[in-house]
Amino acid sequence: FDCDAPLPDAAGLLQRRRRHFARPQKNYYRNPPEIERGWKEHLFDIEGRAYLDMLNNVTIVGHGHPRLSAAVGRQWSLLNTNSRFHYAAVTEFCERLAGLAPEGLDTVFLVNSGSEANDLAIRLAWAASGARNMISLLEAYHGWTVASDAVSTSVADNPEALTTRPGWVHPVVSPNTYRGPFRGAGSTGDYVATVSAKLSELEEKGQKLAGFISETVYGNAGGIPLPPGYLEAVYAMVRSHGGVTIADEVQVGYGRLGHYFWGFEEQGVVPDIITVAKGMGNGHPLGAVLARREIAEALEKEGYFFSSSGGSPVSCVVGTTVLDILHDEALQDNARTVGSHLKARLQALMDRFPLVGAVHGMGLYLGVEFVRDRETLEPATEETAAICDRLLELGVIMQPTGDHLNVLKIKPPLCLSHESADFFADMLAKALRDGW
Ligand code: PMP
Repeated sequence: FDCDAPLPDAAGLLQRRRRHFARPQKNYYRNPPEIERGWKEHLFDIEGRAYLDMLNNVTIVGHGHPRLSAAVGRQWSLLNTNSRFHYAAVTEFCERLAGLAPEGLDTVFLVNSGSEANDLAIRLAWAASGARNMISLLEAYHGWTVASDAVSTSVADNPEALTTRPGWVHPVVSPNTYRGPFRGAGSTGDYVATVSAKLSELEEKGQKLAGFISETVYGNAGGIPLPPGYLEAVYAMVRSHGGVTIADEVQVGYGRLGHYFWGFEEQGVVPDIITVAKGMGNGHPLGAVLARREIAEALEKEGYFFSSSGGSPVSCVVGTTVLDILHDEALQDNARTVGSHLKARLQALMDRFPLVGAVHGMGLYLGVEFVRDRETLEPATEETAAICDRLLELGVIMQPTGDHLNVLKIKPPLCLSHESADFFADMLAKALRDGW
């Protein structure tokens, strides 16, 4: 280590990045720290400054996990190729995944991302139903590929989203019981009626239904649970119209909710297709579609499926090792206990700071929603951006979500310690108390 060597130039690196990176690929922060290293829920920049990573829903077992890097290194030096070859890792990982899904959802496609998983799920719905029309929720994000982007309706990053969706996409109002058109847990029937109206509209026009896609706890809206019984009623209606139900578990699934491994368990339903990614690879490109066999195999009508690195030996070893770590380190349990403690600490801020309108979510998927007025729920968008900037100064990585960008999206690695949860709550209180 050369103490006299000049420090790397973070600002210069950012300029070089901007020279070659296309503009639509955004990065966090106007003046981001240059991150060099990670450990558990902590990140370290080139000057050695530590940050608490409260945002990273990809790295579920934590940054720099030695067991994961050892397993990856071992597999890379043994073999990495594509899933048309026969090797143990792919069989073992598919068995593990099928074992985690409800009975019957035992047929697996391995892909490289959540966008690919949702794209493929939509194609399966098309093939199985023989139709094209998909219902999705407003305020949704499901990915960047052509089909997964089509069902993404969030206007936070794309203000034109609602006027540019293709004709086969039919958005329905987001069942947001906090700020949607119908409020509170008793609003289920009103939200279900909006789906029923959409189905009648399609029927009147003679348009057949392919399916329905949604997150199962509304992650993109800030971790808001769907109203009780919503998916049960919606799934039943969709199926009775010949459609296939897709649960996007990319953000909320895989143990993050603490109380549930899958988000759909919170609603007491079983979808026809599950899509999963992000945490399952802990940052390695890995995603999956789980479906009933007859739905998965309907794709044969349109040809076959192959992904060059989806389900590679390295990807499968990553997937299996992540599951082993989740189990051995009891990380879902940690998400439940530390998440409950953190939620209580954040809820206590509501008494001190009128800006805190609500604390959504469960486990380690929480959302603090900032409003200028608790009656009108006017979103505190600028304040939320300023609080995130102030939190960075205080050593916490945090960003906003939701159509109004007024909800803190709290989704740290599942190994978050009690002390780190307290540090976050303390720093948020400090930012709110001192102003920004
Ligand atoms: N679905 C949801 C709910 C997501 O949050 C995301 C990513 N933010 C995706 C799908 C797309 O996943 P990926 O970025 O891995 O393509």
